Amino acid sequence: MAWKLAQTGKRILLIERGDYLKRERENWSTEEVFAKGRYQADETWTSSSGESFKPGLHYFVGGNSKVYGAVLLRLRVEDFDAVRHPDGIAPEWPVKYDVFEPYYQAAEELFEVRGARGEDPTEPPSPKPYKHEAIRHEPRIQALSDSWVQEGLHPFHLPMGALLDQDETGAATPHSQLLRCDPFDGYPSLTNGKSDAQVICVDPALKAHPNLTLLKNAYVERLLTNPVGTSITGVETIIEGQRHIIRGDLVVAACGALSSALLFLRSASDRHPDGLANRSGQVGRNYMRHNNATVLAISRTPNPTEFQKTLGLNDFYHAHDKSPLNPFEYPLGHIQMVGKSDGMQIEAEGLPGFLQWLPEKPFDWIAHHSIDFWLTSEDLPRPENRIFYRNGQVHLDLTQTNMEGHRALREMLRTICDKGDIHPHLMDRKLYLGKNTPIGGTAHQAGTLRFGEDPETAVLDLDCRAHGIDNLYVTDASFFPSIGAVNPTLTIIANALRVADHIAVRLR
Ligand SMILES: Cc1cc2nc3c(=O)[nH]c(=O)nc-3n(C[C@H](O)[C@H](O)[C@H](O)COP(=O)(O)OP(=O)(O)OC[C@H]3O[C@@H](n4cnc5c(N)ncnc54)[C@H](O)[C@@H]3O)c2cc1C
Repeated sequence: MAWKLAQTGKRILLIERGDYLKRERENWSTEEVFAKGRYQADETWTSSSGESFKPGLHYFVGGNSKVYGAVLLRLRVEDFDAVRHPDGIAPEWPVKYDVFEPYYQAAEELFEVRGARGEDPTEPPSPKPYKHEAIRHEPRIQALSDSWVQEGLHPFHLPMGALLDQDETGAATPHSQLLRCDPFDGYPSLTNGKSDAQVICVDPALKAHPNLTLLKNAYVERLLTNPVGTSITGVETIIEGQRHIIRGDLVVAACGALSSALLFLRSASDRHPDGLANRSGQVGRNYMRHNNATVLAISRTPNPTEFQKTLGLNDFYHAHDKSPLNPFEYPLGHIQMVGKSDGMQIEAEGLPGFLQWLPEKPFDWIAHHSIDFWLTSEDLPRPENRIFYRNGQVHLDLTQTNMEGHRALREMLRTICDKGDIHPHLMDRKLYLGKNTPIGGTAHQAGTLRFGEDPETAVLDLDCRAHGIDNLYVTDASFFPSIGAVNPTLTIIANALRVADHIAVRLR
């Protein structure tokens, strides 16, 4: 949003509660990043069962994208329609894929996505190819892909926001911004080789546009309105312990779906007693975060892959009628590779039961044979799944939905592992998403301020403007009415570009 609006020449202030994430040796330390949570927000929230947990949030210039896996997938066309699941219906979107398509294209180009069209049968239509060729598989992953093709599956190259310049063998060129190395997925990039929001948007926009200013270490506490409650008149911000009121004609909240909802709730006033723009009662509700799992399997042949996150599979994405290899009448979800686990990670996770018999607990041996997958299934927006304050404490209520489809997806992966020269046992890797999964697994947070035409049922209108507040917009994943089963960020970026176009017209 800031990158695009900076081009209007208007004076724009970007307020960020964190600082720049320090480039340091620890960026690539598994112990620091995963076991100690060095970059994770130091916050404690409470779950519906009364337990406290640390959410998987990262407060830096660039936000959670500083550590994300940079898989940048479009939602499928069908995700914009109502989708039937065992536990209910994922609601349709009021704006459809055809409106998003040019913005998806622009988002892929902006984030320098490497990908290949035409491999994945669920891929939505796109008239243009990717700007950069896909990141090549390393030999063990290529062998896995080949064996799955022989089984009639359709593995594809993951679209990646990874600034890798590869030579004809797939190796990083001497000047590539990204090294073809292991610490990528879940780690900050020491070489700034990841297409994150700081590297791609904030820094270049600050350099090119003197009308854009970044205010770091500034926490937005509340949004203040005019006496009738129809317009934001001030942004109450805490800087070095002091309260400041910042004023602007338009305000865009993009704090991440959970934090934007909290901001709306903190901003309650006489005119908005239940939180800003909460006539619908939906602020903070309908929270989704995918049913995610990171699993480790053991390859029968060694897996020396360095950059493992190159392969995806969507053969079980839709129900049987559209994904014939899925035997079920409901969708299961998406499978992709995840960053390769190392010995330290496996030791910190605990040894899988089925390997307990091994002498000396050979973590490095396991790591050398490990092959790691990420499974994503769609969860449903339920009003009772919500973020809210109770006695000043943040509460996150979550009851899981659609676990039947998720378990079936795992079973499918087990079956196809066996065909790919991999032992058909899957061990859960919990550190990747934070130790308190599922509740702490907030990585794919969405849905808490959903958009829709009717102010009685939605918080934002179709331009992602708060219903009833003329100059307040929201452009993180809180607008999602449903979440599909692919990683959310490309849709967040595409939507921000769409809303930025609307705001630019308004500013003219
Ligand atoms: C380990 C991990 C791996 C992931 N991998 C992928 C992936 O491969 N593909 C994918 O699509 N997605 C992935 N994600 C999710 C992805 O990171 C998020 O979807 C994305 O970062 C959301 O962007 P955003 O700008 O909406 O919000 P955020 O990235 O959360 O940014 C919000 C910003 O607002 C700031 N902020 C919050 N509250 C305030 C306040 N009150 N005042 C001032 N500033 C505030 C925060 O500090 C932050 O910088 C991953 C996430 C994690 C944690």
